[in-house]
Amino acid sequence: MVEKCSDVGICGEIVVVAPTAAHHPHQRAGICGVAGPAPPPVDLTQVAGESTGGKHGPTTCTLVEGFAVLEPPADADADAAAERADHVAALLADFGNHLHERTAHHLGYPYNLDFDFSVLAQFQNFSINNLGDPFIESNYGVHSRQFEVAVLDWFARLWGLQQDEYWGYITNCGTEGNLHGLLVGRELFPDGIIYASRDLHYSVFKAATMYRVECVKIDTLVSGEMNCADFKSKILQNLGKPAIVNVNIGTTVKGAIDDLDKIIRTLEKCGFRDRFYIHCDGALAGLMMPFIKQAPKVTFEKPIGSVSVSGHKFMGCPMPCGVVITRLEHIKVLSTDVEYLSSRDATIMGSRNGHAPMFLWCTLNKKGYRGIRKEVRKCLRNARYLTDRLKDMGISAYLNALSSTVVFERPHDEAFVHKWQLACEGNIAHVVVMPNVNVEKLDDFVEELAAKRSSLHEGKGFCVPCVEKDIGPESCLCGQHNKKSRIA
Ligand SMILES: *Cc1c(COP(=O)(O)O)cnc(C)c1O
Repeated sequence: MVEKCSDVGICGEIVVVAPTAAHHPHQRAGICGVAGPAPPPVDLTQVAGESTGGKHGPTTCTLVEGFAVLEPPADADADAAAERADHVAALLADFGNHLHERTAHHLGYPYNLDFDFSVLAQFQNFSINNLGDPFIESNYGVHSRQFEVAVLDWFARLWGLQQDEYWGYITNCGTEGNLHGLLVGRELFPDGIIYASRDLHYSVFKAATMYRVECVKIDTLVSGEMNCADFKSKILQNLGKPAIVNVNIGTTVKGAIDDLDKIIRTLEKCGFRDRFYIHCDGALAGLMMPFIKQAPKVTFEKPIGSVSVSGHKFMGCPMPCGVVITRLEHIKVLSTDVEYLSSRDATIMGSRNGHAPMFLWCTLNKKGYRGIRKEVRKCLRNARYLTDRLKDMGISAYLNALSSTVVFERPHDEAFVHKWQLACEGNIAHVVVMPNVNVEKLDDFVEELAAKRSSLHEGKGFCVPCVEKDIGPESCLCGQHNKKSRIA
């Protein structure tokens, strides 16, 4: 059965809050920057009282409580101004403490929270913007292209492309990298079909929806890896149309690595030679695989079109960012010249964060290949440790061989899930063991989880939930699948 992406509605999740004052015609002109009469002063007390329209109003209000933006005191009122300044400083200090606590108890998202970028604090007061193409100077001088290109060179080399063979840029996130990679694929093959496994990241659907490209979902194995037999049967049903394949280098939920070589062989055997485009979504593991000897190689020496990775995941960065690398020859297909920028327009976004490349550059200079390799090894070791400890406690757990994403039985205690910021899906949750997570933290986590779990079941008879469907019978420790518990 072929499922189309059009049945996935991204619109359902987008909360649209009508800008309250924009119905005023002058306000509109002001927002767009179109020359016209100055907008009349807005009465903020009235605006704040207005409904933001729709069911999301009240939720927003509790979140904003104490944080509402207030009109500053009149210039003449020095006392009130000082009082306000103290209030703002106190709010920010509280928020700083809150972030410290949330950072200390974070296990569920693949973000490396361990870094110190104090040396870059001096650049906070610059509006660094790398708008347009990283390789072409624009007229805007406050940019950091030299850092961006240096970082891109490093990644191109990592994935086997020479300086004069690649094109790429530092994106806002892994999602933008996927949007770009799949766009290049579609521009090369306008009548192509996107193939992606069921465990894909939602950004791939987003791309298919935005570009109005048919998207065919491929079944996965229990590991989360693409099922190549199903892939073969699906492409054979569409022999007339080129294939644009999204290959997962680390799925979001289980950290599974799709078998790139087998996917390429399958395409070639089925007659797709020169009629396919492969985008590798390596958001997290794209930066881990090159440092694991036994891992399949992600490299442009193979017939792939693009690779993307998130910068704030394994590397760690205060702001979301990412890297996308593609072949220079491909980019000529979709770029057009924009006179206004005096730059080639091949990026998804216009203005681009010029701070992010500096953070990535600092990290790469500090850690280098050797430092990153050391961190990758530590993460894999600690993930194995966590998996073993969970199993020792009778908690079903699963770990892919080349991954630091530990999948386990979803905890029942919502406060616990919230405290550790676990990502849950159906019956399972996961912990992504990142460089900032040490054994002590994992011990705390496991002990707390085990205590919560046994207190929940106290007096009610112990009943371990079955997660066979999610992680396979060998990893499930429920009464039916755990041989040890059956014997006991
Ligand atoms: C996180 C993730 C993305 C998206 O990355 P963002 O930086 O959050 O946009 C894409 N693909 C996979 C597999 C991911 O895990």
